[in-house]
Amino acid sequence: MNILIFGPPGSGKSTHSRTIVERYDLTYISSGDMIRAEISAGTELGKEMKRYIEGGDLIPDTVVNTLIISRLRRHRRNFIIDGYPRTAEQVLALENYLYDHGLNIDVALEIFISKEETIERISGRRICPKCGAVYHLKYKPPKVPGKCDVCGSELVQRDDDRVELISKRYDLYVRNMEPIIKFYKKQGLYVKVDGHGGISEVWERIRPLLDYIRARESPAQRPPGSP
Ligand SMILES: [Zn+2]
Repeated sequence: MNILIFGPPGSGKSTHSRTIVERYDLTYISSGDMIRAEISAGTELGKEMKRYIEGGDLIPDTVVNTLIISRLRRHRRNFIIDGYPRTAEQVLALENYLYDHGLNIDVALEIFISKEETIERISGRRICPKCGAVYHLKYKPPKVPGKCDVCGSELVQRDDDRVELISKRYDLYVRNMEPIIKFYKKQGLYVKVDGHGGISEVWERIRPLLDYIRARESPAQRPPGSP
């Protein structure tokens, strides 16, 4: 089972990806995690990407493609890709790779939330500058308002978690993803899941679909008693 997962900021896609990875035994390929890992490892590719980020530029498609495709080569099948492809060039590179290796995507899953929901989820985030603990004013408040439960430090809001910037990131996501979503819609692979509500509520909207795909690909592995 090969999955693409998308979602606006705060959609919970990384949380659900982790659940999916465990339940279906998939390899998790996150473009964001891989970029951060390359940069902190100080590889040639990492240094190159750091220059783009520090200059305020997007990392070029060719660099992102190299990163993701080289990871795919090591794992071949049973993967979930988070945050890729994001441009038409990236779709092309992925499609070429899949075609050359006789692979296909089973589902392109978008966990969708409204802009208001994105703003509420992200603008409520507070982090501890000292130990890195993450809180949410509504969903995960600290025991003492404004103070870290772990180390007692004063909690802060990250600069890019401010409302104007969240709103901008959301619009950018919607604009960038429009052609990508259109492409996967045409292929009959796009599924939009309502991402509003609690984590387990949203998960119950995702699980039946993925259980179905898994059962379809390996009938012998169906649990006894299932149709
Ligand atoms: Zn702390």
